[in-house]
Amino acid sequence: MEKFSIKDLGVKVGLEIHQQLATNKKLFCNCTPTESDDYSIKFQRKLRASKSELGEFDPAALFESTKSKTIMYYANEESSCLVEQDEEPPHELDKDAKRIALIISASLKSNIFSEIYPMRKTVIDGSNTTGFQRTMLISQGGFYNVGKKKIGIQSICLEEDAAKILGEEGNIRKFGLERLGVPLVEIATEPFEVDLSEIKKIALSLGRILRSTKKVKRGLGSIRQDVNVSIKDGKGVVIEVKGVQQLDQLEKVVEYEAKRQHGLLKISKKYKKIIGRGIIKIKKTLQNYLQNVNQKLFKMLYRKIRR
Ligand SMILES: [Zn+2]
Repeated sequence: MEKFSIKDLGVKVGLEIHQQLATNKKLFCNCTPTESDDYSIKFQRKLRASKSELGEFDPAALFESTKSKTIMYYANEESSCLVEQDEEPPHELDKDAKRIALIISASLKSNIFSEIYPMRKTVIDGSNTTGFQRTMLISQGGFYNVGKKKIGIQSICLEEDAAKILGEEGNIRKFGLERLGVPLVEIATEPFEVDLSEIKKIALSLGRILRSTKKVKRGLGSIRQDVNVSIKDGKGVVIEVKGVQQLDQLEKVVEYEAKRQHGLLKISKKYKKIIGRGIIKIKKTLQNYLQNVNQKLFKMLYRKIRR
C-alpha cells in the first residue's frame, strides 16, 4: 500500500475572521453592547424567505423557511431598543466603528473604497430580527506577512453581529438580542497553500494585527473564524467550515476536512471504475446480441433469395 501523507494533498486554505469591535455603542443604534441574561422583554416572530434585490430566492433561505420555526426573542432595555426589534429604522452608522474598520484596512494595506454602502445579506435562521444582516464592503486587496509567507487579503467588511442563540425546543428557537448589532469586522484572506503546522501561526498573526489597533474586543466569542478548505485534486471544490472558536482546533479542522475530501475522491474514483466496467460489459453483450441477430437475418434473407 502506498504511504499516505497529508502534504501530498496540496491543501489550500482561506480564512474568514470575524472580530467584534470595542465601541461604546452598536453599529446602527445607541444601545450599549452588554452581556446579560436578565431579560425583561420577550416577543416572537416567524421569518419567511423573500426575493433578493436581483429577484431571486436564496436556496439556503428557502431551505430554512421550510422548517417553519417560531422565533422567540429575549431582550432588555440596556442592550437593545426598537432598532434591534426591527420596529424602527436603523440610525446613522457609528462613526467609531467606521474609523476602526478603516484603521484595520489601512494596517493590512487594503484598498479602501471612497464610498461605503450598507447591503443586505439574507439570514432567516432567526439570528437577525430583520431577516437580513447589514454589511458594508470597506476595502479590497492587501496583505500581511508571516515570516517569509505573504498572505493576501480578499476583502474587509464592516457588519452587524447576529443575535445570540439561547436554545431550541421543538418548533421554537430562542435568541437573546444583546449581541445583535454589535459592530464586527470580517476579513477574508486569499486562499493560500499551507503546511498544516503553520496555519495557527498565520491566524494568530492576523489576530495580533487586529489587537494592535487596541479597538477590538477580547475574550471567547469576540473572534470567530470560518475556514475554507480545498485540495489539489478536488477540481476547485471549496468547503467552508464555520465557527471555529479556538485557534488550537484550526490545524485539526483543516486536516480532517482535507482527509474527508481526499476520501470522497477515492470513493468516487472507485465507483467510476466499477460503473465503467459495467458499461463495457453491457456494450459487449449488446454487440454480441446484434451480431447474432444480424447473422440470423442474413441467413434468412439469403435463403429467401436462393428460393
Ligand atoms: Zn438599539
